[in-house]
Amino acid sequence: MKSEKVVIITGASRGIGAETAKLFAEDGYAVCINYLSNSDAAESVKEAILQQGVQCIAVKADVSVSKDVERLFETVDRELGCVSVLVNNAGILKTQSRFEDISEERFGDIFRVNVMSCFLCSKEAVKRMSVKHGGLGGAIVNVSSRAAQTGSPNEYVDYAASKGAMDTMTKGLAMEVAAEGIRVNGVRPGLIYTEMHASGGEAARVDRLKTKIPMQRGGEARDVAESILWLASEKSSFVTGTFIDTSGGL
Ligand code: NAP
Repeated sequence: MKSEKVVIITGASRGIGAETAKLFAEDGYAVCINYLSNSDAAESVKEAILQQGVQCIAVKADVSVSKDVERLFETVDRELGCVSVLVNNAGILKTQSRFEDISEERFGDIFRVNVMSCFLCSKEAVKRMSVKHGGLGGAIVNVSSRAAQTGSPNEYVDYAASKGAMDTMTKGLAMEVAAEGIRVNGVRPGLIYTEMHASGGEAARVDRLKTKIPMQRGGEARDVAESILWLASEKSSFVTGTFIDTSGGL
């Protein structure tokens, strides 16, 4: 059965994406969980959502590759219905490093996964959502980072720059499609407890830095999911081209 509220969340097998998938399901959305390779994690999020009595599919696709993105959206068209919300959440970072030690290959990988994926998925979403193309409108929420503004010196300037590119795309696309029924906004999480910090080489990074956070705690994936849901919902119907810093004041 096709649903009226359909969300695609990229990178939803773990962390912020997984929590966002569960929260949208609680709000009555049919949910597409996208992931790269961790089928066990994706299936376990899917099972939890199906137990809520909500439609859910898990689609393995590398969202930095256009053919995979096309297949992802076509699967959703067929199995859930037309997408009404896209959450561009998939993202990677690599080991903490000085700027001059970042290789060209690594820089390319970071921009491909964090920026190209947002570009490719947003294109497919606009083609389906825009009233100009016969769509019913919708919302796109981009999961950026506070790093876009801090620049992440001595850790990952490449990652921070990719999130800055994402923010610029959020702003430009929001203005371009504002009169076509599509709102585009971003969430900039601060230090959130997920497995991502292990890929940066420091699994306990949030605990090391949490005293620098004005609210004196690390964020939970649910904190970010709530901001994403609000930006996707009718409660923010007059909000576009802007950002929520979900970062405890950092
Ligand atoms: P995470 O726990 O490392 O999870 C990353 C997710 O992205 C996984 O589901 C992974 O799939 C998926 N993924 C990676 N590359 C992909 C690709 N090419 N195609 C499809 N899926 C892909 O990350 P997280 O901490 O939840 O981060 C989610 C987003 O929040 C990211 O954009 C990140 O930059 C942003 N963010 C996080 C923090 C933080 O403190 N955690 C702070 C600021 C911003 P598999 O499971 O299959 O590998």
